[in-house]
Amino acid sequence: MTPIIVLEENTANKIAAGEVVERPASVVKEIVENSLDAGATSIDIEIREGGKEYLRIVDNGHGIPPEEVPLAFERHATSKIRSADDLFRIVTLGFRGEALPSIAAVSELEMVTRTQEAPMGTLIAFSGGRRIRLESVGAPIGTAVTVQRLFFNTPARYKFLNQAASERRYVFDIVGRLALANPNVRFRLVSDGEEIFVTPGDGNMEAVMWSIYGSRIGKHLVPVYRESGYLTISGYICKPEIHRGNRQAQTFLVNGRVVESPLLASAMEKGYQTLLPRRRFPIGVLALTIEPSRVDVNVHPTKREIRLSESSEVYRQVLLAVKQALEATTPFEPWAFPRQDETTEPAGKPSFVQETMDAPSPSLERRAIPVIPPVRPKKAAGIEAGCRLPSSDVTITTESKRKVSTPDAAPSHRGNADTGLAPKHTFHRILGQFQATYILVEAEKELWLIDQHTAHERILYERFLGELETSRIKTQPLLVPIHLELGPAAAAAILEWSSRLEELGFEVEEFGSKDCLVRSVPAQLSGIGAKDLEELLLGVITKGETNDYRENALILMACKGAVKAGEKLSPTSMQDLIDSLLNTKNPFTCPHGRPVIVRLALDDIHRRFGRR
Ligand code: ADP
Ligand code: MG
Repeated sequence: MTPIIVLEENTANKIAAGEVVERPASVVKEIVENSLDAGATSIDIEIREGGKEYLRIVDNGHGIPPEEVPLAFERHATSKIRSADDLFRIVTLGFRGEALPSIAAVSELEMVTRTQEAPMGTLIAFSGGRRIRLESVGAPIGTAVTVQRLFFNTPARYKFLNQAASERRYVFDIVGRLALANPNVRFRLVSDGEEIFVTPGDGNMEAVMWSIYGSRIGKHLVPVYRESGYLTISGYICKPEIHRGNRQAQTFLVNGRVVESPLLASAMEKGYQTLLPRRRFPIGVLALTIEPSRVDVNVHPTKREIRLSESSEVYRQVLLAVKQALEATTPFEPWAFPRQDETTEPAGKPSFVQETMDAPSPSLERRAIPVIPPVRPKKAAGIEAGCRLPSSDVTITTESKRKVSTPDAAPSHRGNADTGLAPKHTFHRILGQFQATYILVEAEKELWLIDQHTAHERILYERFLGELETSRIKTQPLLVPIHLELGPAAAAAILEWSSRLEELGFEVEEFGSKDCLVRSVPAQLSGIGAKDLEELLLGVITKGETNDYRENALILMACKGAVKAGEKLSPTSMQDLIDSLLNTKNPFTCPHGRPVIVRLALDDIHRRFGRR
């Protein structure tokens, strides 16, 4: 225990300025970090109303000697740094001696603390920064800090806080990360009387992951370990079957501190190569141990950004660590995991010159439009078991009733201005399926390659959009509700969205603090499985409060509901799919913007065979 001193002005000024107290979660973080610094092995965190009304952190650390207690609440009072030099060692990151006074200034704060040497504990209390009590009390060794009515005297800041559910989520998030960073400390988090998680505090990081994220993620963890030179990387990542629509479930630690680093996040994602769908993010915790001299602490007091010297080497090592960890446990089929240079994009190499239907001119002039976009190579051979069949008029069946295809089979007209050629009026005949992924269609003097997945996405997207425009999306109650084990943070987030989700056709309800029950889903997605549903819901809510969350949701729903690449389709199914596609407003691109139809003109084909 080092005595508390008041930092010399110069040192204090060298510390990057920044708000310490932004919301309950940042208060919790500062106080918990103090507990950790005090050598606590057990930290209890209790919040009410997302911490807006009440939060309390109790530790069994070394406490503060009675005579120093008032000092701890003076600005720039810290026992942890002496001079500016210390700032450049990451091990001292975060000691600015301003957390306690800042928090005390905007709340009703009470601290009870006792050291082993002191016969009695000390109670100190503040209201809006004014000290209202200082006395000796009986107390166990350690420190308990209670913060009530945060921002009661700064109404503007109070108003800035979100609903309790959302503040709660921030608290869960930060406590989770701190628990991951300190697996040897037992963390217990209680919210509104309910225990959210307890970590064992036995040094086992995997156990912390289980505690925080629940068994579904826990069961899919893969250990990571790599040592090279000055750098050691260890941790746990989740197998690629489970992923998220954001980076919330990623934790990066550098020398034991939680950091935010786009570099590390990107390295980890690259390590998964093509194993994750586009715009999906891995789950995991990676702890880096680096010689302190090679870490430049770009001290943003709350964001924890860091700069690493030789960052490209760190990037490479993290990428390799992740890649090797995954390779060691997943039996990669060669077709599921194409071998390639790490730096090149997986698929999408132009394989032939093509015309796409979404080209502005329908004139079939020769124009090389690059690249058929990647068709998610990992799914290429129908490994996605139990793919859902959409429930309504696009019936994807496997029986082979053959519908006769005539020009009349195309549904009736709806104009399509941007192309000049209304494809539904062209004669089209299905030639078959190529690689269980593309439907080949003869369309007058053209050969069409139609991506079955993107085509179906487009159909579903427009259907959802139509339903949403008229009222809400048609929903279908599930015979057996789907139980999602989400972990407390994600469960809280989803519940917060329940009314918006209802409008989108999902009926979600609380099931304990970590789980949700989904009682109904959109009728078009009636066969959806738990894994897809979880991804979908998490993907929907990550758009936050923005207006385009609906758009995002519909795109995701269409994607999840659509037949996958790699699924064999019966002729009837193909016919239904093509008919419905040609009846959409925009048959040419999927909602993600990928092409649906690639056209090859007969003339071009002739030319290639030297006929012209
Ligand atoms: P900092 O953590 O940057 O030093 P704070 O304002 O957070 O500044 O805390 C001021 C000082 O109070 C700390 O340096 C530490 O000596 C003491 N302190 C705060 N919380 C605790 C705690 N839970 N246990 C022991 N000492 C504490
Ligand atoms: Mg502190």
